[in-house]
Amino acid sequence: MASPNIRYGARIRKRQKAVKADKVALYKCEECGHVAVKRISTSIWRCRHCGATYAGGAYTMTTAAGEVARRQVDSIRKSNKG
Ligand SMILES: [Zn+2]
Repeated sequence: MASPNIRYGARIRKRQKAVKADKVALYKCEECGHVAVKRISTSIWRCRHCGATYAGGAYTMTTAAGEVARRQVDSIRKSNKG
């Protein structure tokens, strides 16, 4: 299957909707300043303008969102154990 199924409940499925929007969004390149950074693979982002490649979040460039995602992964892991 092309995209992973999200099956951890309604809250996470809601989150997945926002994640998809972030995945297709373009971000500002720190090298050339153009808003042309696109997600090319999990955690890999590349500027279409200058070719600069970034290792970012799996679904977003921003650290804040990455932090939220990390907390969600933590809580998913906890709920899977318990
Ligand atoms: Zn660039």
